[in-house]
Amino acid sequence: MPAYDAIIIGTGQAGPPLAGRLAAAGQKVAIIERNLIGGTCVNTGCTPTKTLVASAKTAQMARRAAEYGVVLEGSVGIDMRKVKARADAVSGASRDGVTSWLAGMENCTLYRGHARFLDRKRVQVGDDVLTAERIFINVGGRAALPDIPGLADTPHLTNSTIMDLDTVPDHLLIIGGSYVGLEFAQIYRRFGARVTVFETSPRLIRREDEDISRAVAGILAAEGIDIVVGATNLSVGRATNGAAAGGMIALSHDGPNGLRTVSGSHLLVATGRRPNTDDLDAEKAGVALDAHGYIIVDDALKTKADGIWAMGDCNGRGAFTHTSYNDFEIVAANLLDKDSRRVSDRIPVYALYIDPPLGRVGMTEAEAVQTGKRILVSTRPMTRVSRAIEKGETQGFMKIVADADSGEILGAALLGTGCDEAVHSLIDVMYARRPFDQVRRGVHIHPTVSELLPTMLGDFQPVSP
Ligand SMILES: Cc1cc2nc3c(=O)[nH]c(=O)nc-3n(C[C@H](O)[C@H](O)[C@H](O)COP(=O)(O)OP(=O)(O)OC[C@H]3O[C@@H](n4cnc5c(N)ncnc54)[C@H](O)[C@@H]3O)c2cc1C
Repeated sequence: MPAYDAIIIGTGQAGPPLAGRLAAAGQKVAIIERNLIGGTCVNTGCTPTKTLVASAKTAQMARRAAEYGVVLEGSVGIDMRKVKARADAVSGASRDGVTSWLAGMENCTLYRGHARFLDRKRVQVGDDVLTAERIFINVGGRAALPDIPGLADTPHLTNSTIMDLDTVPDHLLIIGGSYVGLEFAQIYRRFGARVTVFETSPRLIRREDEDISRAVAGILAAEGIDIVVGATNLSVGRATNGAAAGGMIALSHDGPNGLRTVSGSHLLVATGRRPNTDDLDAEKAGVALDAHGYIIVDDALKTKADGIWAMGDCNGRGAFTHTSYNDFEIVAANLLDKDSRRVSDRIPVYALYIDPPLGRVGMTEAEAVQTGKRILVSTRPMTRVSRAIEKGETQGFMKIVADADSGEILGAALLGTGCDEAVHSLIDVMYARRPFDQVRRGVHIHPTVSELLPTMLGDFQPVSP
C-alpha cells in the first residue's frame, strides 16, 4: 500500500498549487484526478467561456464597425469551428501546463482515476490503495439538473457539454437567468442564435440589487435576447408538429400571461451547481456534509475528520476560481507558514462576464440596508464617464455603498465597460480597511473608468431605510 505524507483528491484550483507547496517542503505527495487535469476553470469554466466572450465581443464590435468609421466589406459571419478551436486551444494550453507541471513535480505522484475514501487515512483509486496522515479534498462541482418534467428524456446541454458545440444553434433556450446562463445567452446571441432565457424568479440575477438586475436585463434585451421572468411549472419535451412546430425542443411554462410553449433547437440548463461529493464515500472517513452535499469545514477549512481538509467549490464557502485558490493559500499558510489565515478574512468578490461586465465586491445595497446601519450610496451612469463615451460603450452604471458612521466601504456593483478591472481599486481599499474619505482625494489616471471612483466617494447620499 503506497504511503504518502499527503493525498490530494482533485486537480482544481487549489489541489495543484498545494501539491507544489507540500512537495517543495519535502513531503511525499499523491494527487488524484478522474477527468481532465485543471478541473472546471481550465476545461469547462472560466477559461473557455471567457475565450468565447472575447469572440462574441469581436463579432459585436464588427457589427458596430461603421459607428466607429471602420469600413468592413460584407456582413459579419461566425465560423463556429474556429471559435471552438480557439477556446479549445486556450484551454488546452492551460491544461497541458498544469499537467506537465504535476507530472514533472519532484516528490509528487499523479494518479489518474476516481478516488473514494476507505477510511480516515486511506483512499482507493483504481486498484491502488493509498494512505496518508493528511488528505485534502478539491473535488469541485458540476452542473445541477433541476427536477423538471421531461428533462431526462429531452436532449439538453450543460455548461460542460455546450463547449462541444461547433455550430451556432438556431434558437437556444436557456433555463436559468443567473451568472452562467446570462454569459452563454449573450455569447450565443452575438454568434447569431435566437436566444430565450427562462427564469423562475421575478427578475434576473436575483442576488443582486433590483436596479442592477434591471440594467442587466435591459442590456441583454437591447441585443435581442428574449427574457421570460416569473416562469414557473416548467416542462420540456421533444417538439411535435402542433404547438411547437419548427423546433426540436418544446419548453412550456406558466407565467404572468398564462401557459405558454416556446420551441427551440437547443436547450441549455444553467440552474446552478452541485458539489462532487456524492461519489466520494466521505462518510467512511468521518467527513460531514451539509444538506446540499457541501463538505462542512471550519474557518481554516478543516473538515469534521481529523487530518482532512476541503478546498474549493466542494466546501460551499466560495464558487469561484479565486476563492478556491485562496482556500489553498489558507491551508498552506496554516500548515507550512505558521500563519493563521482564515476564510472569514475574505471579502466576497466576483464578476459577471456579460459585456459590459459587472464587477462586484462586498454587500449589495439591499444587504447594507438590512444591517440597520446608516447607509450612504453613490451612483454614476456610464454615460457620465469620459472613457466610456470615448469607447462608445456607455451602458450600465456604477454604485458604491458605505457606512455613514465608520466611513467603511461596504460594497460596490460596477456595471460598465472595464468594470471587472475598475472594481479592484475599491477591493483594495476594503482590504486595507481605510475609510473612504482617506482615499477620495487620490488622483487616478485620465481617461479611465477608475478615475471616477474618487469622485463617487465624494458624492455619497444617505439611503432612507
Ligand atoms: C461556465 C462557468 C464559468 C465560470 N466562470 C468563472 C469565472 O469567470 N471566474 C471564476 O472565478 N469562476 C468561474 N467559474 C467557477 C470556477 O470554474 C470554479 O469555482 C473553479 O474551477 C474552482 O473549482 P475547484 O477548485 O473547487 O474544483 P474544480 O475546478 O471543479 O476541479 C475539481 C476536480 O476534481 C476532480 N474530481 C472530482 N471528484 C473526484 C474524485 N472522486 N476523484 C478524483 N478526482 C475527482 C474533477 O474531475 C475536477 O477535475 C465558472 C464556472 C462555470 C461552470
